[in-house]
Amino acid sequence: MKKRKPPKSVYTLADLKKGIDIDPPIRLGVFGDPVEHSLSPQMQNAALKHCKIDIQYARFHILPNELREALDLVRKKEFVGINLTIPHKVAAIELADRCDDDVKRIGAANVIKIEAGKLRGFNTDGRGFSRAVREEFSVDLRDMRVLVLGAGGAARAIARQCAKENCERLVIANGTFEKGQQLADSLRNFFEGPRVLGPVARLQAIPWEERAFQFQIANVDLIVNATPVGLNRGDPSPIPSRLLAPHLMVYDTIYSAKRTPLVSAAIEAGARGANGLSMLLHQGALAFESWFPREAPIEVMRKALL
Ligand code: NAP
Repeated sequence: MKKRKPPKSVYTLADLKKGIDIDPPIRLGVFGDPVEHSLSPQMQNAALKHCKIDIQYARFHILPNELREALDLVRKKEFVGINLTIPHKVAAIELADRCDDDVKRIGAANVIKIEAGKLRGFNTDGRGFSRAVREEFSVDLRDMRVLVLGAGGAARAIARQCAKENCERLVIANGTFEKGQQLADSLRNFFEGPRVLGPVARLQAIPWEERAFQFQIANVDLIVNATPVGLNRGDPSPIPSRLLAPHLMVYDTIYSAKRTPLVSAAIEAGARGANGLSMLLHQGALAFESWFPREAPIEVMRKALL
């Protein structure tokens, strides 16, 4: 019997070019730079095994100038699909043959499906976030007043999802104010309804300032951190606990085994808090469902992540 080679923790473009002789064959993966930290292989490989799909998922360290060639290779090698992480989510849009409407509007794709040799781009971050919030706090985004911190790829997917699900209010705080303003402007048509909320606007961008946070926090239910603040050891909470209040739900998209600084600040303030592991799980389950015509084994994937 042929002895199975153990998979490498991270492959490169050179490996893809040379061909990877491994059983079961690698036909799914994540492209990133860096990518070592990605938890997707453990989650997706558990799902593949559970569903008796005889292929495997691997990490690929792909540099920005290698993305075109890497996507071309996976297309030729008949991969099923690819996940994209930092910094490829934007560049992949130009390289895909077709993208979902949401991808174009968000300006980022985190999933590629390879269909008959064509690359199709999806974004599952927004829907993954929505499912995560429902799971963590037993609430729907509909009718929620939401403050999103950030205006990058994750924030754009989340803000758009909130708008599509008809949230009551959406406030965007970003360091570069103009980017937050642009994001708010792009969602204006979702907020033209007749609802009256008193003196606060239904949709607005605010500067990244303590005074602005203080005023908004009294007028929102859910705060979402979609910045990397909290990712590195020693990072502060993007919003200090003294500004938080017990009525809040606080979702930090950063996934970490431990409490992030923002989740700790929320709990200290008597609020509810959750980190991004549940969003990672649900965006991954939705990616699985875009690659295969079957329901993702969510509990198997959750267990593999934990
Ligand atoms: P991105 O496109 O690079 O955007 C980063 C955003 O964070 C920008 O709005 C940037 O503001 C802001 N920012 C960066 N450093 C900051 C600081 N020191 N203070 C205040 N704001 C700061 O990144 P992304 O892809 O959206 O990812 C953002 C976060 O989401 C990451 O931590 C990532 O791990 C997380 N994420 C989680 C999941 C999940 O499944 N859980 C999925 C996707 C992303 P400027 O515009 O002013 O530069």
